[in-house]
Amino acid sequence: MSVEEIMTRSKLLHMNAGNGECSYASSSTLQREVIQQAKPVLEDAIKKVFNNIGEFPKCFNMADLGCSSGPNTLYTVLNIIKIVQMLCHDKRCKMTEFQAYLNDLPDNDFNTIFKTIPSFYKNLKQADDGANCFVSGVPGSFYERLFPSKSLHLVHSSYSLHWLSKAPENIENNNNIYITRTSPPPVFEGYMKQFEKDFSRFLQLRSEEIVTGGLMLLTFIGRSIPDPYGNDTAHLDLLSKSLIDLIHEGLIEQAELDSFDYPFYAPYKDEVETIVQTEGSFYLDTIKLFQVNWEERDNDDDVCFDAYSSGKHVARTMRAVLEQMLVGHFQLGDSVVDSLFERYAYHLACHLLVQKGKFFNIAISLRKK
Ligand code: SAH
Repeated sequence: MSVEEIMTRSKLLHMNAGNGECSYASSSTLQREVIQQAKPVLEDAIKKVFNNIGEFPKCFNMADLGCSSGPNTLYTVLNIIKIVQMLCHDKRCKMTEFQAYLNDLPDNDFNTIFKTIPSFYKNLKQADDGANCFVSGVPGSFYERLFPSKSLHLVHSSYSLHWLSKAPENIENNNNIYITRTSPPPVFEGYMKQFEKDFSRFLQLRSEEIVTGGLMLLTFIGRSIPDPYGNDTAHLDLLSKSLIDLIHEGLIEQAELDSFDYPFYAPYKDEVETIVQTEGSFYLDTIKLFQVNWEERDNDDDVCFDAYSSGKHVARTMRAVLEQMLVGHFQLGDSVVDSLFERYAYHLACHLLVQKGKFFNIAISLRKK
């Protein structure tokens, strides 16, 4: 990826900044739920490393890749420190120094995280009075080198690796924003190949930065079935539908929709396993598959939650993630963005009246060979 490509990518792909109603910071409880559900995998993985480790490092170096601008990243850092300290306690030792690197693309609103550092330190003091954690921001793409060789003990990344370095090329005839049943076969192939290329590169780069025996915990959206045309990305079909509504109203052009390819891929677990094995730098210790409802507050599988309010809630979550990208591509003004997400809320609600919407997730723990 050239510097220009990273800058363009960063301009288009960044979550809504600040703390306002549509910001990522106020609309990322879904992503928090995902982190919660992956926590047992993280705990087990850290335990395993600590049981195998001969000498404890003086300073424990961790990185959160794709940290965004919300509270989830420092929440994760605190979780990791607590887990490590618990294990140290069991082994009658004490780790007092932690280094946490928070990475995202350069246009990410790092300042919103940095402003919460005082309260993070307060929470850390409550959890462990003697521990110091030094926090730094690392702007750059995780599809490039980010850290010195063999400098990290743990890499964490949640809900970031489904973002590709770019949309696949040569898929001009796709009549949709992602893979759907009506997409010509090269579309699926193009997306799959781009993920394979990106994920292999990610593994190879991290293998240079992580110490032998070091750990990665990666969680991302995936598919529940090998068939790429299933229901796992229904939320994207509904986004397409909302964009088509705007075409019918003359607010955007068909050609703009035709040229928009969502730079995302939801892999099936076998694809992930094959890439890890082929790349060869890591042992794949654990793979956990789990679902969260689009409406993460809805834990009930049988009864319909309030579909209308859920539709609005899910649209808000998605808006915090997608707004900048859609505004950048379609050159949308404020009022058009509002109507796009109103339509999206409506289509989501109609879907939720008939069936639950779910994100299918893959969490893997990897150990550096
Ligand atoms: N981990 C956070 C944020 C998830 S949102 C949480 O769980 O709440 C996904 C984040 O990944 C976004 O902030 C996006 O900018 C970042 N991202 C996507 N591609 C990236 C890349 N190539 N390099 C670094 N960050 C990236």
